[in-house]
Amino acid sequence: MNLLIFDLDGTLAVKYTDEILPGVYEKFKELGYDPKQGAIAHPMPNPYNITRAVAQPEGIRTCIATNQGGVGLREIIEARGKPNQSKLTLPTVELVYERLKTISYMLTGSYHEMQVQAAFNLVDRKTGKWAKPYIHGDDLEQWNPEFRKPNPGMLNYFLNYFQPETATYIGDRPEDKQAAAAAEIEFIHADTYFNRR
Ligand SMILES: [Mg+2]
Repeated sequence: MNLLIFDLDGTLAVKYTDEILPGVYEKFKELGYDPKQGAIAHPMPNPYNITRAVAQPEGIRTCIATNQGGVGLREIIEARGKPNQSKLTLPTVELVYERLKTISYMLTGSYHEMQVQAAFNLVDRKTGKWAKPYIHGDDLEQWNPEFRKPNPGMLNYFLNYFQPETATYIGDRPEDKQAAAAAEIEFIHADTYFNRR
């Protein structure tokens, strides 16, 4: 099985939105999916009540690995005890997952076809420390600093989970390329993969 792991912002969609970038729907059709092009952004229905199966392309699995440090930034702002305007625009954990699942639906026709991972932590520029220290076994793995690209934690998570024969990471930033190198998998730039240049 060939595992395709996608970065999110600047690769599949415009940051903080579910506006799909050029070439993405076309590519997912080519992969064998039935994208819901033009699907209206809407809250994900109760994920536990969805039984509809998706036509899954043979020989490939797709997932998303995305840095969502905005969630960590919320933590930092909150820890300082002075919520400000910018906090209102920063995503929560729930919003990140809702967005990821909506994008999975738009690209594949199923909320659950694309496995998703997000890195919520980031380094506080003022203190040089992680927004939320990771305590092994006592926290969500999404807060593990090892998950934040350029570290390969999210990619390694998928490699362990799927045990694919081959794997490729598609992204638009140097840290994506570095994460792929650290996980020892192929990297393809999003502009190349989606024929945007
Ligand atoms: Mg990106």
